[in-house]
Order: sequence, then C-alpha cells, then structure tokens
Amino acid sequence: MHTTNSQQLFDRAKQFIPGGVNSPVRAFRAVGGKPLFIKSAKGAYLYDEDGNAYLELINSWGPMVLGHAHEEIEQAVREALPDSFSFGAPTRREVEMAELIAGMVPSVEKVRMVSSGTEATMSAIRLARGFTGREKIIKFEGCYHGHGDSFLIAAGSGAITMGVPDSPGVTVGVARDTLTAPFNDLAAVKTLVDANPGNIAAIIVEPVAGNMGLVLPVKGFLEGLREVCTRHGIVLIFDEVMTGFRLAKGGAQERLGVTPDLTTLGKIIGGGMPVGAYGGKREIMDFISPVGPVYQAGTLSGNPVAMAAGLAMLRHLDAHPEVYQKLERTGDALVNGYRESLQKLGLNYTINHIGSMFSLFFTEQPVYDFATAKTSDTGLFGRYFQAMLKRGVYLAPSQYESLFLSTALTERHVETIIRASQESLEEILVKA
Ligand SMILES: *Cc1c(COP(=O)(O)O)cnc(C)c1O
Repeated sequence: MHTTNSQQLFDRAKQFIPGGVNSPVRAFRAVGGKPLFIKSAKGAYLYDEDGNAYLELINSWGPMVLGHAHEEIEQAVREALPDSFSFGAPTRREVEMAELIAGMVPSVEKVRMVSSGTEATMSAIRLARGFTGREKIIKFEGCYHGHGDSFLIAAGSGAITMGVPDSPGVTVGVARDTLTAPFNDLAAVKTLVDANPGNIAAIIVEPVAGNMGLVLPVKGFLEGLREVCTRHGIVLIFDEVMTGFRLAKGGAQERLGVTPDLTTLGKIIGGGMPVGAYGGKREIMDFISPVGPVYQAGTLSGNPVAMAAGLAMLRHLDAHPEVYQKLERTGDALVNGYRESLQKLGLNYTINHIGSMFSLFFTEQPVYDFATAKTSDTGLFGRYFQAMLKRGVYLAPSQYESLFLSTALTERHVETIIRASQESLEEILVKA
C-alpha cells in the first residue's frame, strides 16, 4: 500500500496547521503512523490521495448514514447552489427544517439551527442557565459534548461541589460550575444534586454514550435522571449529536422511551455539512433571543446550502423507515460475525452494540463507564487499527470511539470486514 502522497501532504500540513490537522483525533496519535489524506468517497468506500480504497466504518463520525455522496443529497445541494450560498436572512428551507425536526424528534417543539454540535451544546446550557436562573451543570465522565469550556472539565478533589479544568485555557471560574459523575451512576448524581441544593441548572448526557467507545445506559439510568430533573426543576439535556436520526428516526429518546427537556443535534442533521441544532420544550426555547432574554446568534446559522443537504437527508430518513431496519440487520450481522471470529481466537474482548453503532474493546471486563472503558488494551487496539487499515478497512483511529455503519454496507462488505478482522488479529497474536 503506497501512501506517499498522504505522507507528503501531512509534512506540508504540519508547517502551517497545528499538528497538521484541523481536529486532533485525525492525526492518528492514538494508533501511531501518519494520517491518510482523503480525496473522495462514494457509498461505503473512502479513497485516499494515493488512490487506495477503504471500507468505511466511521462515516465522517456519523453523518454519512446513507453512505457517501448519496444522490438525493448531492442533487439537493446542486439545486440550491445557483440561488447563492448565504443571505443572513430567513429562508423557506429553515421553516421546513424546523417543522420536520419537530415532527421527527419526540421532545422538540421548537428548534434553533446552529453550525456545529459544539455550538448546540454551548447554547443549550446557556439557555438552561438562563431559564432556571442557576449556574451549575452536571456532566458525565467520558461523555463528549464538543469543545466548549464548560465541558472540558474533570472531577477535582472537591468534586461534589466543583470541577477542575481539563485543558489549559479553561478558567477555574468556569470549572467551578461543572460537576461530573460516572456514567450510569445515578447515586452519584443524587449526591451531587443534594450537595448543591437549588443550584443545578442542567444535567447533560449522551443518552447512549459514543465518545468513550460505545457505552449503553443501564436499565433505569436515563429514567432516573428524568425523575431527578423533574423533582428538582433541573433541565435534562440529551446530547443526541451522535445518536439523533441514527438509533431511530427520533434518536435515542424515541428508541429508549425517555423524554428530555432539551435535545442537541448535529452530524446527520447536516447531511455532511456543518450544521447543529438545539430544541425542546416551547416554554424553554422561548427564553432565547429575540423572544426571550438569553442571547444566541449566528451569521451562517440556517445556511441555505447546508439546510438543503440536511433537509434532503432528514426527508429521506423520514420517508424510508426501512433505512433503520437495514442498519439494524447490518449491525447485527457485523457484531455476530465479530463474536464468532473472536471466540475462535480465544481473545479477551467486550463488544458494546446498539443498532448501527458498536465498539470492540480489548478487555475482559464489561464496559459501562469511562473507568471500565479505560481497562482496554490500547496498544493492542493500535496494532489492530493498523492491521485493518493495511487490509483496506478504515476504523476510528482510537479505542475510545464508536464505529458507525451506513446503509451502503452490504452483506459482502460485512464478510470482508470480518475476514480482515480475523486475519489482522491472527497476525497480531502470532507476533506477540
Ligand atoms: C461530535 C459531538 C459533539 C460535537 O459536535 P461538533 O460538530 O464536532 O462540534 C457534541 N456532542 C456529541 C455527543 C458528539 O458526538
């Protein structure tokens, strides 16, 4: 496999872009080696700058749920282009988009469009604080809500009353207002709420966590959060940037039957364009400017080309429930294949799986929070990643990521992936 062009581009990139990439995970630091520069993609395949083809299990970290360059989305973008690319004024497509989202996502009565998932989560917590008149929020270890200051927080020594910055540049002042609990630990949440009476504005959670590898909520966890929030007047925010329109038409909240007060959306909602959104109960959403006092704005929010792509994506998903049946079947086939092949090798592993999301952890422990996710053998994962890449399968370049399937994957693709996995692990185990 030649990757000369990618390597040259990476060397050039490093001169003018920090680390050569515009988002850190792309640099392959967690798996070693140099990143591939992608030139194009179609259906289930990525093509790099050297002309190598890879079967895709990231799909742009989720958005390309119908596979790459889907005709309906491409067509919608083409149709939008001659009308110009941005007006900074309201457009018809934004109305259609809002109506469609409210029709699809159970908790959403009103919605505001933004340009990324990060912007959605930042805006949602500001809104929750403005609405409740309270300052602190609770998040969960290992959950990712974009790179807003309030989310780059670790549990400190006084973790019951304040967090500490998890990145230089985040102030102690901001960190004080973010409390953290282990995912799936309802008792810890209750302790935090009791220790900060009348002071918690919001609890934000990935209802199915996809950013520490895939971790599912245990029975009663989300229901318990709902109960605590209702009892204490706390705004429950489901961050469905990953799970929205993926685990079901109405996201994890539809699939799991728990209704948040606010929902943040991104990834699939833009069909591959930079789009995010936050929405929820009318009475809360009407706290946003210009009707309410909480300020939030965006020059490119509701951008017409981005809306064209997102609308085409959501319309397709809304009109084709069979998309979700296909994603379930593909997910089941892949995971069953994995289990069979891993059992033969006698390797310690845990697979977490729901619908079209799954993670293979190299640990014998069940993985139900960040601490258990971290028991994985990340060195082994790095070798596995490289061995798969060599065989033309592109995984997420970190153990702590979920994999995302698309409808472009066929049964034959699934067989190819399983075979590549078996060969990769055999190769690694022989070397070890
Ligand atoms: C990707 C992601 C975000 C951040 O979205 P960006 O568009 O990368 O800013 C927020 N929350 C979750 C759950 C995500 O997966």
